[in-house]
Amino acid sequence: MLKNKVAIVTGSTSGIGLGIARELAGLGADLVLNGFGDAGEIETIRSGIARELGVRVVYDGADMSKADAVRGLIAATIDKFGRLDILVNNAGIQFTAPVEDFPAAKWDAILGINLSAAFHGIAAAVPQMKTQRWGRIVNIASAHGLVASTHKAAYVAAKHGLVGLTKVVGLETAGSGVTCNAVCPGWVRTPLVDKQIDDIAAQRGIGQKEAARDLLAEKQPSLEFVSPAQLGATVAFLCSAAADQITGTAISVDGGWTAQ
Ligand code: NAD
Repeated sequence: MLKNKVAIVTGSTSGIGLGIARELAGLGADLVLNGFGDAGEIETIRSGIARELGVRVVYDGADMSKADAVRGLIAATIDKFGRLDILVNNAGIQFTAPVEDFPAAKWDAILGINLSAAFHGIAAAVPQMKTQRWGRIVNIASAHGLVASTHKAAYVAAKHGLVGLTKVVGLETAGSGVTCNAVCPGWVRTPLVDKQIDDIAAQRGIGQKEAARDLLAEKQPSLEFVSPAQLGATVAFLCSAAADQITGTAISVDGGWTAQ
């Protein structure tokens, strides 16, 4: 389905981004991986996907907290592949604290990586996608792009902002062959959430298993984690012809979290 298409997935060295990257490569897309991590492990991931799925995979370590680096990632991809079809804005970080104690530097970092990076990436990608008369922009927001929780001022603000940005770009690209949508996952078991499970376990003096159950019980009625593969399949659907008229929207994949 995606043969000869080129996809960038930011923050794809781990977790959800890696699940999405694998799914798109499995459908034939050439891939630009991005994110931090051990150079050897990243090379193993890169060469593994290329070998198993028979697509071109390159790694670009652009830092999504830096506007120039984000725009550089888009430009370098177009330079290297001659096109850009799919941009998945996925890189994200988390930090929790009550608003009065929230460190200003953490606020800036979360807004930068979880929101501004998507703006810069989209701004740089849209002209190329419009020229091609086909493009898919998928912003990985969160249930926290639709509803709030305590102690997540920056994250909730950034993800609500990302859903807003999605609507604007959906409107501005309507009819051009380019769509822009947000995906709003509930809890997914990744390093980002493992840290929060560790915190609950430490605070309540309980084990990891019980802490994970508590985390789910608080928000996610299905009591099951969403998987990176399920999110990859959601992004793949948004890249399919069936989704040509889906734009400017937010799709929840959250086990019922935001139905409450
Ligand atoms: P993760 O920590 O496993 O992965 C985050 C990725 O972003 C990694 O590849 C990391 O290297 C990369 N990254 C971080 N800072 C970066 C930077 N400055 N520049 C480039 N890359 C950077 O986390 P995840 O859970 O897979 O999260 C992915 C996205 O999904 C995030 O936007 C997150 O907010 C969102 N999300 C996660 C959950 C969840 O339950 N895990 C739920 C809803 C939304």
